[in-house]
Formats: sequence, C-alpha cells, structure tokens
Amino acid sequence: MPSAPISSTFPPGTILGYPRIGRRRELKKAVEAFWSQTIDAAALEAVAAGLRQQTRDRLVDLGLGRTDSSIPESFSYYDQVLDTIVAVGAIPSRFASLVAADGTLDLAGYFTLARGEGENLPLEMTKWFDSNYHYLVPEIGPETAFSLAGDRIVREFVEAKAAGFLTRPVLVGPVTFLLLSKASDEAPAGFSPLSRLDDLLPVYAALLARLADAGADWVQLDEPGLVSESIDVPRAETLAAVASAYGVLGGLTGRPALFVAAPYGSLDDALPVLAATAVEAIGLDLVRGTLPQAVPGLAGKTLVAGVIDGHNIWRGDLTGAIEGAEGVRALSDSVSVSTSTSLLHVPHDVLDETSLPGSLVSWLAFADQKVGQVATLAQGLVNGRAAIAGPLAEAAAALAARHSAPGVRDGAVRLRAAALTDADFSRGAYADRLSAQDSALQLPSLPTTTIGSFPQTGDIRRTRAQFLKGTLAADEYRSLMRAEIGRVVALQEEIGLDVLVHGEPERNDMVQYFAENLDGFAVTENGWVQSYGSRCTRPSILWGDVSRPAPITVDWSVYAQSLTTKPVKGMLTGPVTILAWSFVRDDQPLGETARQVALALRDEIGDLEAAGIKIVQVDEPALRELLPLKKKDHADYLDWSVGSFRLATAGVADATQIHTHLCYSEFGVVIEAIRNLDADVTSIEAARSRMEVVREIEAGGFDHGIGAGIYDIHSPRVPSVDELTTLLDTALESIPERQVWVNPDCGLKTRGYDETVQSLQNMLAATRVVRERLSADVIA
Ligand code: GLN
Ligand code: ZN
Repeated sequence: MPSAPISSTFPPGTILGYPRIGRRRELKKAVEAFWSQTIDAAALEAVAAGLRQQTRDRLVDLGLGRTDSSIPESFSYYDQVLDTIVAVGAIPSRFASLVAADGTLDLAGYFTLARGEGENLPLEMTKWFDSNYHYLVPEIGPETAFSLAGDRIVREFVEAKAAGFLTRPVLVGPVTFLLLSKASDEAPAGFSPLSRLDDLLPVYAALLARLADAGADWVQLDEPGLVSESIDVPRAETLAAVASAYGVLGGLTGRPALFVAAPYGSLDDALPVLAATAVEAIGLDLVRGTLPQAVPGLAGKTLVAGVIDGHNIWRGDLTGAIEGAEGVRALSDSVSVSTSTSLLHVPHDVLDETSLPGSLVSWLAFADQKVGQVATLAQGLVNGRAAIAGPLAEAAAALAARHSAPGVRDGAVRLRAAALTDADFSRGAYADRLSAQDSALQLPSLPTTTIGSFPQTGDIRRTRAQFLKGTLAADEYRSLMRAEIGRVVALQEEIGLDVLVHGEPERNDMVQYFAENLDGFAVTENGWVQSYGSRCTRPSILWGDVSRPAPITVDWSVYAQSLTTKPVKGMLTGPVTILAWSFVRDDQPLGETARQVALALRDEIGDLEAAGIKIVQVDEPALRELLPLKKKDHADYLDWSVGSFRLATAGVADATQIHTHLCYSEFGVVIEAIRNLDADVTSIEAARSRMEVVREIEAGGFDHGIGAGIYDIHSPRVPSVDELTTLLDTALESIPERQVWVNPDCGLKTRGYDETVQSLQNMLAATRVVRERLSADVIA
C-alpha cells in the first residue's frame, strides 16, 4: 500500500515526559491497593485513566497544544523499560507461566516481573542514567522470542484521541532498550543483547504501524543510551546499531513521523549517524550537552532544543534558554523547544507548597512551571523575543533576586572554604592510625557491626509524626526516642555485636534529616518524585550556603554510648549523598557546594569525637550514582567528591576510626576513588554478588578495613549460619583476616524485628565459627 510522505510539522514546544505518579501520589496509592488486593485491576485502570485525563487537561491549560502532538503519552504503571519489555514480549522464561495463550501479560503479571514471586526473583533494578530513577533491567538471550505482545501504548493513544487530544506516544528506543539489557540466564557467556537488534526491529515496526493506524502523527523514541559512555558495549557497535535501527525504522512506509530524543547529555559521534537516517526530528539536551557542530543531514530535520532543565527544580535563566534555542537555528530552520529530559525527575507543582518561603518559591519551577516555560519559549521562537518580553523580564528579576538574597551567600562560610589548605584534606599515615585505633578500641578479630539503622516500627514513625505535628512535647519525644535507643543498644549487646549503633530512630530519611538540621536547605510538603515503581522520595532543596547552626546527632550518640562499654558508632550521611538525593542549587559548581556540606559535617564529627565517640561512620551510598555519564568528566567529579569526604573526615585524631558505607555492587571505575576516601573501614554491599566486589577491591591493592556485607537485607529471608559462614570464608579467601569486618550489607530500617534478630544472631554464630577455626589454625 503506497503511503503519503511523512509531512507533519513538529509542535513548537513540548516536554519529553511528565510525572505519572499523580499530584498526591494517587497512582502509588492505587497500585499498592491493587497489590494488597484492596482494589481490583479495573479499579486501578480507572484511577490511571483519570490521572491521564487530568494530565492532558493540565498540559493544555499550561500551554501545550491539544491536537498538535505536543502532549507526550508517557504514562506508566511502574516503569517505562518494563513497559517495553512487555510490549515486545521479552518476558524472561522463569515468568513464562504468567503469559496468556495469546502472548499477553495482565496487570498482575506485569507487576510480578517487577516484584518477583516465590522462588522467581524479580527483574534486577538499576539506576536510569545519572538520575535517581531506577528501571528494571531486561533479560535478553538467543531464546528471547520478540513479538508485539502488548499494545497498552496504542490503547492509551486511542483513549486520548477519543477525549479529543492528539498525543505523541513515547517509547524507549530499540538501541537503548538493548543497551540497557543484560544477557538472560540461558544466554551463553559473552552474549550481547545488542546482537538481537535485527529481531527486535520488526516488533518496533509493527508497533509504529499500529500507532499510525490509530492516527498518531508523531512518535517519540527515547535513546539516552546513545549519550552514555558507561555502557559496556564498544562505541562502534552502538553507532552501527543506531545506523541500522533508524535506517530500518526510518525506511518504513506508512509510519508516524519519528522524533528521536537523546536526554542526559550530548549525542557526540551518534549525532552524524542519526542525522544520516530518515528520522524527522532529533532532540538535543542543551542543559547537560552543548550545541553540536553542523553535520550532513541535520539541516533537514526538526531539532528539538532541550533548553529547560528536566532534572532540576530551578526556574533558571529563561533568557539564556531562548538564546540556546535560537542558537540551534544555525543548524536547521526548523527548531522547537523542549525540556532536556522527561519531567519525571521533578515534582508536580510549586503551587502545592504552602510552607516554603515566598522568595524561594519565586526561584523554583517544578513540572507544571517548566511546561509553562516551554510554552513561553515556543511563543518566543515563533513570534520573536519581543512577544515574551514580560515573562523574560520576570524570570530575570527572580534570578537576580535569588542571586542577592540573604543566605544564598554567607560570608563566613565562604571565607572558611577559601582558607582551606591541603592539610585539611588528609589524615595521618594509616599505619599510625591503625595502631592508635587498635589500642583505643580493643576489638576482637573479625569485628561485627551493623550499618546504622534498626527496624523502624510503626511506633517509631508515629512518635516522630506526633512530634512533627506538635501533639507531642519535645521532652516526651526525647524520652520516647531514648527508650528506643536503649532497647536497640540492649538488643545489640545481647546478640553480641562488637561495635554498636544507636539505631537512627529519629531519622525519617538519611538525607532529609540532615537537610532539616542544616542552614541552606528547605524541605517540601508535596515535592514527591518517583524513585522506582510505587516508591517516591521527597528530595530537599539545597538553595543557599550550607552551615550547621547546632550539633545534630551528638545527643543521641552520646546517650547511646552512655548505656554501654562497647564502642557506639556515630552515624552521618556524607556530602556526596546529601547532594545526590537533594535538589541542589545550580548557580555554582557542585564541588563548591559539597565542600560547604563537608565543613558542616566536619564540625559534627569534631563534636562527636570531643564527646567521647570513638568511631564515626559517614555513609556515601550515592558515590557511584553521581558519576558523570561522560568519561571526560570523571576525573573532575572524583576529585571533588572524594575531596569532600576527606574534608569532612580528616579533622579527627589518629585514634578515632572513620567508617564509610557504600551500597551498590558495581564498583568498577570507582574502586580507586574508594581507596582515596581513606576511610579506616569501608562496608560494602556484597551478599548479592557473592563477594565479587570484595575480590575486585582487594585486587586493587586495598589495605584498609573492609566490612563484607554478608547478610542481604533487601529481602525478609533469614540467611542460615552455613550460608553466612560460606560468604565469610569467601571474603577471607581474598582479604587478609586483619582487614575483615562482618556486617549486613545495608541499614535495617526496612526490615521487621523478627527476621533482623534471627539474621544478626546467625551472622554472629557464623563469625564465631570462623573465628574459632582461624585461631585453631594459628595454634596448629
Ligand atoms: N546508615 C544508614 C542506615 O543504616 C545507611 C543507609 C544506606 O546505605 N542507604 O540506614
Ligand atoms: Zn546501604
């Protein structure tokens, strides 16, 4: 069937995606109600349809076009990568029984892939580029039988159309889908999921045909995989895949126009490859990336200038944004404006915040404000800057006010940072520290400890909530929390742990707690952002210079220490993690902000030390997460991130022991950085990788303490003594005994007490078995 040439014009302004969780987390609540069987699938579908309707209406109110494909169809019940897995029929064989005879998977089955069932482990979850969003990892092998097995996106497009909207379906692009995949259990060693591209493309072709038939003018294919250099596929193979994929899809007849978006960085050498294909539009992230050079073919495309930061919550420099978009005209006559990434990473609406200071509110743009900015810029591009002079001036005034507002720059903080010297970043020689700590602490071989938090019971949460609401007086709150600390300390003594913790009952969240107690931060009421599936976080806003008005954790730690003769570890969150899990000011380099946070923590550590605390742990679980996507940016990042940790921790005496905790299992490029942190003891997540990480670290020549996380706290399972003994033995195969500590692989706050107590008892039993054997070996 001959088809008309693809001639639709791209809308002048758009966004790459919109939050789907709902302004009041309606989707989260409905999905969880479905999981607990309080509502059925039809009721969940109805909530989701209602949210999609609200989103469309809202986006039109904010200035996007109703029928010009500017509204992205970007809803997901759980995750867009999972949606793609289901759409292309790539269901791992262990879940085969969930698939109906016609190849489809119902909603319950969809969630089972994400959450696992019985012996069937869920799909692995990992971070989506350099954001704090997590996606589910596809498992692809030679046996994966691709077929168009899910048409949810088509149904959602049709639903919108019936309501009078012409939306733009958003799909994860085929190259990125395979780049993010791992080899299935059945795949032979060395199998590359990307080798299945030719088999996957017909499914995308079929899906595009279905969307065209349904009336879609434009389809967005997200290809952030092309901007990242941290994917283990040779670049030449990625580029060949781009040429092949968009050669095939671009060459289809009767398809919608194709918009390939490349958020999270610049396309670099993928741009000429994409420009040489027949796709109609290419999205450029001009926030993380820069304006590219002209390349053949580009002038004939619509270029979608991602000039509004989709990653951050600042209103920012609107004049700079329109300049950026105008600059793209040097490359093509057809330029549209957009966000740099999906707005999935930001909360819905600043206007939902009632307790933020008014000045701060005027500096912010959440998703809805960013849509408004896009609409304004689109108008400016079409009608000239004069047409948007008012909004440009308002944004400039807000930016200027922000720059000079009290608290944004604090003279004392700046003077202190400017006066730092190299000595402030270094502790004494490790050998001296080791002997000073050995005599101060007198710990047995294979010392046992935990990562900090103990289970957060309903009672603890209620107590905190009441205190926050003002229905519980400060002294009552304090004595309830002290009672909890007392229970946790007694429990640890009973179990026989060597280094104790206070249990962190006073903390809602390991970052927000510090944000609430430091100057320069604000906390939102409704600023929820999807982290994964139904899980949302509420990042704090780091808007000004950071300082510590008063000690934060000292009272709690000192109280815990007063109850025991064993050492109690002080527990702090590190500067990199505080930055990674907050929305951070964009008006100065991250490294500068990190130093301010580090200085505040340094003071806290000094106070803990002065109050008699002999061990302080500074958690940096996000060290790997903030690693830039481009290799050229790694050195600078590692320099400031490691530097801020060292600045925070280097003020203590040799005898004070510094611990850190990192929780992820892919160390790779950061191994050297871990060594440079120079923490006396580093605890890591190792149970799930069967101690593989431990071997990697040791191979790098690490001689400090290593806390082998032998108890996997990510599941309620109680590991047996045998299993824990084996893991400990595995660790001891590659690390000398004197370096080994024994601990769970993360904090216990999400666990229940029963399983925690049993697991810790088993961990101690395993340690005793190994200790006895080791001392028998010495005697023999
Ligand atoms: N100390 C923190 C806790 O135990 C560490 C949490 C984390 O690594 N994410 O909860
Ligand atoms: Zn952890």
